[in-house]
Amino acid sequence: MIKRDPIAMIPGPTPVEEPILQALSHQVYGHTYDDFVEIYKEVLKGLREILILDGGEVIAVGGSGTLAMEMALVNTLKKDDNLLIVSHGFFGDRFIEIAKRYGVNADVLTAKPGEVISPNEIDKKLSEKTYQAIIVTHVDTSTGVCAKIRDIGEVLKKYEDTLYIVDGVCATAGIEENMKDWGIDVILTTTQKAFGVPPGIAICGFSDRALLRRKKLGTISNYYCDLELWLPVMHDPSKYFATPPINLILALNEGIKIILNEGLKERFYRHEKLGESVKEGIKALGLNLLAKDGNAAPTLTTVLYPEDNIDIDKFHNAVIRNGVLIAKGVGPLAGKMFRIGHVGNISHQEIILTLSAIEMGLHEVGYKVEFGASVAAAEAVLTK
Ligand code: PMP
Repeated sequence: MIKRDPIAMIPGPTPVEEPILQALSHQVYGHTYDDFVEIYKEVLKGLREILILDGGEVIAVGGSGTLAMEMALVNTLKKDDNLLIVSHGFFGDRFIEIAKRYGVNADVLTAKPGEVISPNEIDKKLSEKTYQAIIVTHVDTSTGVCAKIRDIGEVLKKYEDTLYIVDGVCATAGIEENMKDWGIDVILTTTQKAFGVPPGIAICGFSDRALLRRKKLGTISNYYCDLELWLPVMHDPSKYFATPPINLILALNEGIKIILNEGLKERFYRHEKLGESVKEGIKALGLNLLAKDGNAAPTLTTVLYPEDNIDIDKFHNAVIRNGVLIAKGVGPLAGKMFRIGHVGNISHQEIILTLSAIEMGLHEVGYKVEFGASVAAAEAVLTK
């Protein structure tokens, strides 16, 4: 058999388009060189367009999504402030740890795995005491649950002192988000999922209200994350605070061009359609989804392993041998389910291949599969 690398159908990192790869192999610019400075500015302008941010500031610096999480938190909250965390899984819970390190008082609304916290529950909790901020993960990549970001924004209009922070790591540029119209104060995100760019850039959009909060905090207890140290660089990228990941900025610029050329609306629609096709395909195999219809994200699908105790490692290795890498469960859901990413610059081609590889993998571990059933169900959605 010819050995090929499997395509990464995990919920990030996602497959990367050719112009992005080429940008990565470009000779390394000096960060003060005019051409690079212009590209950095273009990146920030493009991000503003994707986040739909009026006023405020966008920052993009070397680091992963976790850095962006920390950056959002330390620039808006100080020790002893009250924070409400809405957690739909492992990545929501990560904010509890970060808040603890900075002495921020976190209350948590925790959803049952696969279920979503309703805007009404959030309203009730917010009415009980004053929170300086609420953090909601748009898509929790561990459960595949998609939060009601727009509706929560409506609820928050009543709570003037509460900043609205959204973790868009598994959503931004793949699912609609609108800082301006939905009253979002901070979106934190990163490059390796719906942007379709390799990992390594932490991105945050801050509203004017969030910037005001940052000013009030004075000196904050983190250096690299400090917005005030980065802003002069974001206004004039030839200035120095810390050396930027030059080639990743070039790559992100190419990634943003692809996103804006496709069009945001078209991109969101494509993600919905591909997401639905995978979900229907999986259901056609008789498998159960963790996140139920209405709560499930278009960017990934979370699937419970069949009940008859399959050999999980054997299954995943068989799927890899058939050309596709899918993800195992994380946190408390490890060993209970697998996750399929369908996020970023992917097409029908990868969907069909993925479902086919899953069918063959299931067959190999003794699960009864009607060959082609998932592919047929997906095709029915894709051709609708
Ligand atoms: N938030 C969410 C929703 C995520 O899915 C992830 C990573 N999968 C993170 C935050 C952390 O990002 P990173 O791994 O890039 O640090």
